[in-house]
Amino acid sequence: MPHLLAGKTAIVLGVANKWSIAYAISSAFVREGASLILTYQGERQRQTVEELGADLKASKILNCDVTQPAELERLASELKSTAPVDAVVHSIAFANKEDLSRPFLETSKDGFLLAQEVSAYSLVSVARTLAPLMTNGGSITTLTYLGSTRVVQNYNVMGVAKAALEACVRYLASDLGAANIRVNAISAGPIKTASARGIKDFSKVLDGVAALAPLRRNTDPAEVADTAVFLASDLARGVTGNVVFVDAGFQTIGIGLSA
Ligand code: NAP
Repeated sequence: MPHLLAGKTAIVLGVANKWSIAYAISSAFVREGASLILTYQGERQRQTVEELGADLKASKILNCDVTQPAELERLASELKSTAPVDAVVHSIAFANKEDLSRPFLETSKDGFLLAQEVSAYSLVSVARTLAPLMTNGGSITTLTYLGSTRVVQNYNVMGVAKAALEACVRYLASDLGAANIRVNAISAGPIKTASARGIKDFSKVLDGVAALAPLRRNTDPAEVADTAVFLASDLARGVTGNVVFVDAGFQTIGIGLSA
């Protein structure tokens, strides 16, 4: 099979370590022939992401905290020499740990706004910053979770942020469609990553999903990555404004009785 992303330049935001969904996506993009650019958030992550980026032969590894307008502006100017950019992956979220363990009713205004800013609004600011560099059109993909539309215990403020993120996907798809830029989300099943470890009782969620999902197992990050390849490729040229589930089918289950 030909490489699906040959000749394309992709930027992936959100690699923290080799367990990050963004890392699985980056590896699949490189496998499919993309030229890769990575970003990391702050000095704390620099060495790890530079090492991972070197293994993946990333052409650039840039610092960008997506909540800082000046850092987004700097990112855009650092990317001018690499433009056009063809694919953007936004694999970023954050909420205070205490908001992922106590009742949602107890969510503070600051915690609510922080989750919205990092996990939902950042897609808008990233799209606004990078769309001008996507002069041949292309694809913007973000990562979401079922907690956006269903109550998932302890997901709380992040579920509300993901609901906003999915609405952002639809509005951005409408705004950017005329420039032939497609915007989609992948709704991944639960995967053990650094972010997921912040959610109380996450291992019970993994066990519950594996017992009830139609495929009777959890989601492999490589499956999410292959869907990200599809969305970034020309095969998905008619797909925009969508939420694509890669969750072993769990989202279809109403009541399941595990054996
Ligand atoms: P992860 O490896 O911890 O990735 C989250 C990334 O967000 C980290 O690289 C983190 O950087 C980055 N980030 C947070 N705040 C940022 C900021 N202000 N600026 C730039 N980057 C920032 O966890 P993950 O599970 O792969 O998460 C990736 C995405 O997948 C998230 O949107 C998550 O909600 C979504 N998702 C995850 C699951 C799951 O079960 N794991 C399921 C569905 C969807 P630092 O580490 O430096 O903070």
